[in-house]
Amino acid sequence: MKNFDSRSFDGDRLVLASHNQGKLAELRALLSPLGISVLSAGEAGLTAPEETGATFEENAALKARAAVGETGLPALADDSGLSVDALGGAPGVYSARWAAADGDHAPAIARVERELGEQDPAARFVCVLALAWPDGHVELARGEAAGRLVFPPRGESGFGYDPIFVPEGEARSFAEMTPGEKRAHSHRSRAMAAMMDRVFAAR
Ligand code: IMP
Repeated sequence: MKNFDSRSFDGDRLVLASHNQGKLAELRALLSPLGISVLSAGEAGLTAPEETGATFEENAALKARAAVGETGLPALADDSGLSVDALGGAPGVYSARWAAADGDHAPAIARVERELGEQDPAARFVCVLALAWPDGHVELARGEAAGRLVFPPRGESGFGYDPIFVPEGEARSFAEMTPGEKRAHSHRSRAMAAMMDRVFAAR
C-alpha cells in the first residue's frame, strides 16, 4: 500500500553503495524488475566510509549519504548482519568485522560457534536499506529473517554466514538454497519489499 508520507523514486539511475559482491548480486536481482539503471560502488569508484553507527539504520544511512556525496546520484545502501539471541544480538552491526580482512567468514563462523556453545541457536538476519537523495532526504526500510544456527556449516552458495543459518520452516541452510529460494526467505528481500511499497510503488 502506498504511504503518502514517503517520497517516490522517479529517477532512472541509482548507485548501489556496496562493495560486497554477495549483497550486490542480491540487490541487483531485487531491483531488476524496476527498469532502473544500477551502478555498483566499484563502477562508481566509491570509497567505503567507516561504519561508525551503533545501529543498522545509522550505518545504512551513513553509507547511502556518503555515496550521494561522492556521485551526486541517488544511492541505495544495505547494512545488515546476523543477530544471535543468546549472544545478546551479536555479531549484529559487527558481522562483517568478525570476518577476516579479506572477507573470509570461517573465523567469524568459528567464533559464533565457540561463543554459542550449548546455548539456544535461535538467530535472525537483519537488513536495513537506506535510499538517499542528493537533497538529503533518506528513506529507510527494515527486513528480518528468523531461524536457527547449525554447525558444522552446510552448503556452498550465498555468502557470509549463509552456511550456518537455516530459516524458520526450512531444513536447508541459505547456502544450500538457490538464489531464488534464498530470496523467498531473506531479510534483504523483505527490506526491499518494504522499500518497494513506499518508494518504488509507482513503477
Ligand atoms: P555490512 O557491510 O556492515 O552491512 O556487513 C554485512 C555483513 O553481515 C556481511 O558481511 C555478512 O557478514 C553479514 N550478512 C549480511 N547479510 C547476509 C546474508 O544475506 N547472508 C550471510 N551473511 C550476511
